[in-house]
Amino acid sequence: MANTSERTIEVNGRSYRLPSQPTVVVCVDGCEFDYLEAAVAAGVAPFIGKMLKGGGAFKGDCVIPSFTNPNNLSIVCGVPPSVHGICGNYFWDPDANGGEGAEVMMNDPAYLRAGTLLAAAAEAGAAVAVVTAKDKLRRLLGWQLKGICFSAEKADKVTLEENGIGEVLDMAGMPVPDVYSAGLSEFVFAAGVRLAQTRKLDLMYLSTTDYIQHKWAPGTEGANAFYAMMDGYLAKLDALGWVIGLTADHGMNAKHDPQTGEPNVIYLQDVLDDWLGVGRARVILPITDPYVVHHGALGSFATVYLPRDVSVAQVIERIGGLQGIDTVLDNVAACERFELPNDRVGDIVVVSTKHVVLGTRRAEHDLSGLTVPLRSHGGISEQEVPLLFNRRVEALPSSGGDGGKRLRNFDIFDIALNRVSSS
Ligand SMILES: [Zn+2]
Repeated sequence: MANTSERTIEVNGRSYRLPSQPTVVVCVDGCEFDYLEAAVAAGVAPFIGKMLKGGGAFKGDCVIPSFTNPNNLSIVCGVPPSVHGICGNYFWDPDANGGEGAEVMMNDPAYLRAGTLLAAAAEAGAAVAVVTAKDKLRRLLGWQLKGICFSAEKADKVTLEENGIGEVLDMAGMPVPDVYSAGLSEFVFAAGVRLAQTRKLDLMYLSTTDYIQHKWAPGTEGANAFYAMMDGYLAKLDALGWVIGLTADHGMNAKHDPQTGEPNVIYLQDVLDDWLGVGRARVILPITDPYVVHHGALGSFATVYLPRDVSVAQVIERIGGLQGIDTVLDNVAACERFELPNDRVGDIVVVSTKHVVLGTRRAEHDLSGLTVPLRSHGGISEQEVPLLFNRRVEALPSSGGDGGKRLRNFDIFDIALNRVSSS
């Protein structure tokens, strides 16, 4: 282990002590606080129960849109998307397609505008490892990282050159899990524990997938089984002497009619086609990615590009009048409130209410994979997330991102590295 105890690094305007004890931050995808409390109440998560009572349990806000990539990048950069640039899985890139513009995935590190504290810590001599569930996050999280970085999804494809480790299947003691399974997240924990047992590491980041949370509400059988699994691995990391910080990228809510089980969807492109003419407005759903089976690309956040001759203010007013809409803002107001990069957001940002999602056209969403009533995220209603530590927290930071008014999930490394008691 590098002698890192007295050194600090500066990353994106924040400073972090390099770990004097091995430190792991876990991002539990889609982890509403309720999941933790319900699993503890059911008696299946005793270690999480200890964390909830140990002077290191808080609630904070994630970044909006409450999606996976913007929040994972905020966590490892310590700043909101206005700084690091990643504001969705998917966006309208006006420069793509020879300047014609195109809808593209935002999972290429070329879109990242800030360095990660993981890469900076490794550069300063810390031994760093990152394990993600899905491969879509791996290249962003591992950008410029001199360390170990691999995904459970592609665990059979790791190479020393690309991932900083030559073999992980035997190490984790599990085969490559199905991308739509609880096993994908369990692999992340199993690999993390084995890395902690077998390597001299200083800093680790583990990021799971929300397959279970999309299907199971807090306190249900499937959810409690997931948290029981997680509890066992967290207890092992604790027993190995690791400082643990646990947070989430976003919460999760039911987005369906409780009577019929049908999803509550506003098909915004259909609405705008009706108002303005077919295809004149362009609705972008930043939740869109290649893995849509469990949510049908339906979340509670959308951004809209309008033709020049249409009044933004009038469209905002009309959308605001639709039932199920929480917030509609123009580009400037939305980017200021949600700390987003103006050039990657449309003319309008639309956020739906707690139990309502936004779609493009009805015909463009394949909902055949929704085997259970829709649960999803993306809105302000999924902003509250846990911040949990296995050490007493001495003092909370005043976050750089929001004038110090509220705790954010992207404060987690600051707290885990700078503000927990040493025993
Ligand atoms: Zn997520």
